[in-house]
Amino acid sequence: MIISINGKITDEKKACIPIVSEAFLFGYAVFETIRTYNKKVFRLDDHLARLYLSADVIGFRPKWSFKRTYEEVVKVLEQSKRWNEAKVRVILSKNRLIIMVEKIQEKPQDMYRKGVKCVSFQGKRNLPHAKKLADSFSYVAKNYAESCGAYEAILVDQKTYVREGAYSNIFWINGGELYSTNKEILFGITRETIIELAGKCNFEGIKFSSLLHADEVFITQTTSGILPVTEINGQKIGDGKPGPVTRDLMKKFDALVWEK
Ligand code: PLP
Repeated sequence: MIISINGKITDEKKACIPIVSEAFLFGYAVFETIRTYNKKVFRLDDHLARLYLSADVIGFRPKWSFKRTYEEVVKVLEQSKRWNEAKVRVILSKNRLIIMVEKIQEKPQDMYRKGVKCVSFQGKRNLPHAKKLADSFSYVAKNYAESCGAYEAILVDQKTYVREGAYSNIFWINGGELYSTNKEILFGITRETIIELAGKCNFEGIKFSSLLHADEVFITQTTSGILPVTEINGQKIGDGKPGPVTRDLMKKFDALVWEK
């Protein structure tokens, strides 16, 4: 892994921040997970725009400006060209910019071919528009999903509406039409890409009980792209296989991100 702290490349074992910092004590910092395809970084501008939006939502003005952060990420990526597909984590606190680059661990192809299992989890992230370190709710939900043998947790609010995954956004398809909620979620960069590719998306809420009867469901996230969801809480979605609209969007997404 390559780590840069405030512009200095640091040995992984020696990389440290003060234990009394707010970032450590309270998780008071924001972050982005970005990735490269064929050495090209995907939607860096959008990710960094969300990073600064997140800082604004949780109420701090970073010492590092957008422009300097952008330049620093590009510089660190130049130094990590050894990986075609890299995961880039950018952490921004009041006084620090930390960039970590490592080889991405791609998900097994079977997850794309057969789809993944999800489980519901009651509750929602606080300050949902912000991607922040202090988001242990997502961590707890994802751990719960994994303990059930599922890949992702679907967060369901008090009124039983579906919000998002613990670490992903959710789409569903009914009668060939694409749907996604835009209420109190993290606006995923992959989600925006899918909406652009689809050309049309209905922004409506859905109750969890209705999601179980959708024709197709899929989740999106930077590192894994689109993953079909074929089972929720032990119940098959559709015929239990990735559906045609999902497969078509997966093809379009692949063509876009891998284009030369
Ligand atoms: N929603 C939440 C809560 C997330 O944590 C993430 C990513 O980690 C997403 C959605 C997906 O966002 P993106 O597509 O930008 O990775």
